[in-house]
Amino acid sequence: MMRERLEVIPVGQWGLFPTGKPWVIAGPCSAESEDQLLAAARGLCPSATGGVPAVDVLRVGLWKQRTHPGGFEGVGAEGLPWLRRVRRETGLKICTEVVCGAHVRACLEAEVDLIWIGARTTPSPYLVQEIADALRGSDIPVLVKNPIGSDLELWSGALERLASRGVRKLGLVHRGVASLSERRYRNDPAWDLAARMRVLYPELPFFFDPSHVAGRAEYVPELSRRALCEGFDGLMIEAHPQPSEARSDAAQQLTPAALMTLLASLK
Ligand code: PEP
Ligand code: MN
Repeated sequence: MMRERLEVIPVGQWGLFPTGKPWVIAGPCSAESEDQLLAAARGLCPSATGGVPAVDVLRVGLWKQRTHPGGFEGVGAEGLPWLRRVRRETGLKICTEVVCGAHVRACLEAEVDLIWIGARTTPSPYLVQEIADALRGSDIPVLVKNPIGSDLELWSGALERLASRGVRKLGLVHRGVASLSERRYRNDPAWDLAARMRVLYPELPFFFDPSHVAGRAEYVPELSRRALCEGFDGLMIEAHPQPSEARSDAAQQLTPAALMTLLASLK
């Protein structure tokens, strides 16, 4: 596949990742309450590490597309003021996942620092187009996760739709792909797929999400290390103040303290 370079603004100019590589986005899978979010952020902000910044941007899901019905589908826009408070009180930048144009508009109004498109949305051209249309005229950075299946064309098609609407702060997140044969991890890390994407889009910052690959917290460190050896620029990791109580992805979330230990070992 031949392609032209995307006209992008380098990640160094986004004002979000001042620390040295690996850049780190971390936080709970889902926002559950204002207190939970604050507890997570307080465990991840520089004051928790004696003033050393380790996490650049706090992640949290507000709108949760669940595979099966009946699960916790997120607090939605109600959580946006919580995110703003967290930023005010901890200094962490904030990011969340959007699924449709209405979510984009809500995030722009709340001045969220970065948004991402999740693995269940990237493979939906109608939704990605709606998101891209809603982003026209804004300059919020957008990260695009790979589709749940290993379809590189859908992943790059999503980038093209965003670029065609003037999105210039673009990045990638690899979160593994669904696989019948993979046993150890929830999703196959598919390092080769990521490497191919890297070759196609060397101009984009490339994050690895060890949490959604691992499916279990105990595998997150080994995957994080491997990702850095594979040349990823940053990590997106789930951390929850009480992982076992989490309303989504309980098995794969680290405590903030465990995350800090991991990050210290990586730098
Ligand atoms: C998430 O980041 O919480 C999430 C739902 O991830 P993914 O889209 O990779 O499944
Ligand atoms: Mn999750």
